[in-house]
Amino acid sequence: MNFEFDPDVEEMRAMTVAFARRELAGRREENGAAFDADAFRGRWLLAGKQGVVGGVVPVEYGGSGLDAVAASAVMEALGYGSSDTGFAFSVAAHLFASLMPIVEFGTEEQKRRLLPALCSGELIAAHAITEPEAGSDALNLRTRAEFRGDHYVLHGSKCFTTNAPVADVFVVQAATEPGRGFFGLTAFVVEAGTPGLSVGPPYTKVGLRGSPTADVHFDGCVVPSADVLGARGAGASVFSSSMKWERTCLFAAYLGAMQRVLESTVEYAGEREQFGAPIGSFQAVGHRLVDMTLRLESARLLLYKAAWGLARGSEDEVAPALAKLAVSEAAVQVGLDAIQVRGALGVLEGEAETLLRDALPARIFSGTNEIQKNNIARALGLSGSRRRARRR
Ligand SMILES: Cc1cc2nc3c(=O)[nH]c(=O)nc-3n(C[C@H](O)[C@H](O)[C@H](O)COP(=O)(O)OP(=O)(O)OC[C@H]3O[C@@H](n4cnc5c(N)ncnc54)[C@H](O)[C@@H]3O)c2cc1C
Repeated sequence: MNFEFDPDVEEMRAMTVAFARRELAGRREENGAAFDADAFRGRWLLAGKQGVVGGVVPVEYGGSGLDAVAASAVMEALGYGSSDTGFAFSVAAHLFASLMPIVEFGTEEQKRRLLPALCSGELIAAHAITEPEAGSDALNLRTRAEFRGDHYVLHGSKCFTTNAPVADVFVVQAATEPGRGFFGLTAFVVEAGTPGLSVGPPYTKVGLRGSPTADVHFDGCVVPSADVLGARGAGASVFSSSMKWERTCLFAAYLGAMQRVLESTVEYAGEREQFGAPIGSFQAVGHRLVDMTLRLESARLLLYKAAWGLARGSEDEVAPALAKLAVSEAAVQVGLDAIQVRGALGVLEGEAETLLRDALPARIFSGTNEIQKNNIARALGLSGSRRRARRR
């Protein structure tokens, strides 16, 4: 067992922290109608030049060929170097939920056509499965894809699609055989500008404000059969595979964010004096900081264990689910603790309250924490959970 990164991964981490501090830090949060798509694209191109938005894509398709451990290290560095966790989240949704399905299931033509510009930062990708009536029950989609020989026609609406307001390429899940459950879904790649595809206005969210989110509508949208991702009926497999990546590598950004906020909280506790002593010398405050450290370090171990498995081709879905649970719950608690240690200053705009706001959605996206527990219980062989097999 080795708890060290390879020297080249260490170097990449340091470079990513420097990049995030230089290009992403200190930015005002944008939200809803105030979202500035041009500024976002500018930062995205810089991240592309840095090799961040194509990290896990093989070098032959324009990526950096990172494995899951190195990709997690880069995501952690992004979260550490900038308080804009929303931007890191957008990068992760692009990379792990959208590009990895193309890498793992795409045809050679799809990979050559789409991946180079998606890795360079010229194009942005989004992944759309969630619908107003199909959240946790992700196999129960209402969006239909009707087969018409050499093409499909898509009808339906998606919601909560990360990156939708800026996306050039959408990985879309639709029902090709409604009622066939796991085998009833098919994944498609659909390019922005395709007639019949439209995107709603950016949402106003409590957290992850640097990441634009919107509805996506398909109204008689014609998609060539050549743009099926994987095979017809393989949509749920495409989705499950991408979730292993997302539940592991995406959450590494939160490790970095927690580390950054923990360090500033320790510093604050050492400087702020009450009753003639630094507040950090009071046992209640010191223990809180120890608890924050314990949560962060144990979540980090679970995440890198999951990443280590993924890098070795493991099909295990429990390790990513445990990592997702541990990191998201730790992030919420670390956010709360960071506010408490700062007293009234904690409720002013700043990195403690930002962490808490950014952490709240983490318990929901990539499959809610309750659904992760259902999946883990099923893997433990607990009866009653089996019935819900394959839900996200
Ligand atoms: C910031 C953000 C970004 C997102 N980005 C994307 C994206 O890019 N693409 C995309 O497709 N989706 C995205 N989503 C959607 C996300 O995947 C869904 O929100 C999530 O799957 C939960 O679905 P839901 O919100 O409809 O909640 P629901 O499924 O309605 O669940 C509501 C509550 O009921 C609980 N619940 C439901 N069923 C069960 C059960 N069987 N057992 C126990 N508890 C249960 C849930 O845990 C939750 O607490 C995003 C969400 C957020 C918040």
